[in-house]
Amino acid sequence: MSSTSAEVVILGAGIAGCALAYHLAERHVGPLVLYDPRTPGAGATGRAAGIVTEQLWNRWDVEVTRESKEQYARLSARWDASAYSVNGFVRWANGADAISVLDAAVGRLRSWGVDVRTLDAAELTERVPWGRFDDAPRAIWSPGDAVVTPSTMGEIYAEGARQAGVEFLLGTPMTSFRNTSDAWELETGGRTVRAKNAVVAAGAWSKEILRAIGHPLPLAPYRTQAAVLRPASGPVLFPSVHDIDVDVYARPEANGRLLAGDGTRLVEVDPETFQTGADESFVAHLAETFGQRFPGWADAELVRAWAGVCTSTPDRRPLVGPVPGAGGLYSVVGFNGFGVMRAGGVAQRLADLIAAGAESDPALEQLKPVLPGRFTGPPDAFLPRPGFTLDDGDDPRF
Ligand SMILES: Cc1cc2nc3c(=O)[nH]c(=O)nc-3n(C[C@H](O)[C@H](O)[C@H](O)COP(=O)(O)OP(=O)(O)OC[C@H]3O[C@@H](n4cnc5c(N)ncnc54)[C@H](O)[C@@H]3O)c2cc1C
Repeated sequence: MSSTSAEVVILGAGIAGCALAYHLAERHVGPLVLYDPRTPGAGATGRAAGIVTEQLWNRWDVEVTRESKEQYARLSARWDASAYSVNGFVRWANGADAISVLDAAVGRLRSWGVDVRTLDAAELTERVPWGRFDDAPRAIWSPGDAVVTPSTMGEIYAEGARQAGVEFLLGTPMTSFRNTSDAWELETGGRTVRAKNAVVAAGAWSKEILRAIGHPLPLAPYRTQAAVLRPASGPVLFPSVHDIDVDVYARPEANGRLLAGDGTRLVEVDPETFQTGADESFVAHLAETFGQRFPGWADAELVRAWAGVCTSTPDRRPLVGPVPGAGGLYSVVGFNGFGVMRAGGVAQRLADLIAAGAESDPALEQLKPVLPGRFTGPPDAFLPRPGFTLDDGDDPRF
């Protein structure tokens, strides 16, 4: 068995792990190893929609998403221009409660520097001409929002990391992962990697990895669904849209197609055994929504539909930073369905912390709202409760 020493071993080559490898390599922290038993993008990243919006629920998330957008724009311009497009994002609602939340969100978002505008029914129809809005819903539009191809962006980070000398260990099962007296030790495919620091970036699989080493965090993997459809005709680049009342979103895809979701199931699943195909009820819900809300797309042909596994936390915030009581161990997990839009910014901040040392106050401050240490003691079971939310309160519909 051959043995390698590293400064950091990262577990998981989704967009979070690849972005972290890239940012750590930029900081020249020492030898880096990125391990995944599958391939980059084999988890949620390869199944995600890739909507990137600043219509979020608090300032920290907006700032981190803005940092991600800046990275995605720069990296896609250099490596693959098709991976990132600014198309704007429109969402609307009609219930009285939802309208008051949307109205409150506009003021809050503007105070965080988000360019967000309200649209009347005529303006909404102009932006979304294949829609029917005779019920005049309240709508808001953020023109600077974007779409990214998640797997391509993950590959771009991976390629950048590779070129900077990060070693990738891919495609062999994990034999063991444990803490010895002076290092984190990973065994896989006849190799041993001993590292001063380890980062668990394994998406839905992180829960079991952390439990097995005696440092459990409150995580609940859940299933969410999406589909690609081909309308007979329509604009190639249109704003991403989200109907809050029926909870359906859509974004433009390559070749005149569109990608629609949400189809989130609020029960915990096992990422090793979850049902990867979409439910009939999800596809039927899309068809019904398209018929009523998007008559211009009602004839769209279903190309494919699928499910992926995301990871929820009790307060819908990720767990990023040092794992309490486990020297040299970090996590970057629990994105509650919004990991693509925040991965670049989060990885940059976590790389700052690892480079500066886990005690660095300025670097910890950058991650303050998401530090895992906000949860103490053995985690209680909880139901996943993600949501395309605008409200910092308890109502996950927004
Ligand atoms: C249908 C759908 C739509 C979505 N839409 C959006 C969206 O529009 N915008 C957005 O921001 N987010 C969206 N998401 C969420 C987004 O996909 C995730 O938040 C994000 O991809 C998480 O990235 P990750 O790198 O943390 O995890 P993952 O991409 O899941 O990567 C985890 C990796 O860990 C690996 N792994 C497993 N076991 C081990 C082990 N023992 N050791 C090491 N590695 C291991 C896996 O093979 C995998 O490659 C969507 C998700 C789905 C499913």
